[in-house]
Amino acid sequence: MQQDDTPKFIVTVLGSGSCVLLHNRYPSSYFIRPSVVPTGWLVDIGSGAIQHLIETGESHLEIESVFISHVHPDHISDLLPLLQALNYTPGFKRIKPFYIYGSEDVRRYLNYNMKLALPLLEDFPMKFILLKDKMKLEKEGWSLEVRSLKHSAKTLGFRWNVEGCILVYGADSGPCDGIAEIAKGGDLLILESSFLKDNPRPHHLTTYQAGEIAKKAKAKRLLLSHFYPEVVEMNKEEREKEVSESGYNGEIIFAEDLMHLEVF
Ligand SMILES: [Zn+2]
Ligand SMILES: [Zn+2]
Repeated sequence: MQQDDTPKFIVTVLGSGSCVLLHNRYPSSYFIRPSVVPTGWLVDIGSGAIQHLIETGESHLEIESVFISHVHPDHISDLLPLLQALNYTPGFKRIKPFYIYGSEDVRRYLNYNMKLALPLLEDFPMKFILLKDKMKLEKEGWSLEVRSLKHSAKTLGFRWNVEGCILVYGADSGPCDGIAEIAKGGDLLILESSFLKDNPRPHHLTTYQAGEIAKKAKAKRLLLSHFYPEVVEMNKEEREKEVSESGYNGEIIFAEDLMHLEVF
């Protein structure tokens, strides 16, 4: 099959870990460079995400948008340090709008913290875009569909479309209709797989459940991430075996921090 040479998305994993802090797996964060956006996006922004982004040679000051799935600290902790840097880095002034996409909870988190600890410059061009379940946004060159997921905090999953190429982010969630809907026909699914098959939890996925979702969705590739230690400690063959027992036969990738993936 012929493939366009230009990737529609380049995904860099900034954090493949979870709330369990590990030296080589930072909490959740991804840098996404869509072909239709001159700079890039951050999808979730756990602690250490900005430092990792800088290590890749990208500028945190040029990020166009941040998409936040939920307010658990392993997904949002670096948002305030990023805003602080955008406002107070000497010699830098943000002119282009800085977009933050998130739920009402994200807005409340931001408002509270900005009032308490981080007054923004009067002319700082921050734009908050409120996201709700079943919303669809059409933007210049890309679109976004949003679904509520099943988690212990209000959580949203995202499905971006750039020229027919579908990138899906399942954030933190147990199996649910929302995750199944956004996953359909995805070119790359980024799904959590916090736990192993014999240790399922209501608000997270196991490696096996992530495989089941990818199978039902007929997804092309599956990027597994958000690992708890029991998954990290298992060797690659054992982990792959658990996912493939679900019957998913697309490409299975286990995330590592600073890994790059091109999505066509
Ligand atoms: Zn998490
Ligand atoms: Zn969470």
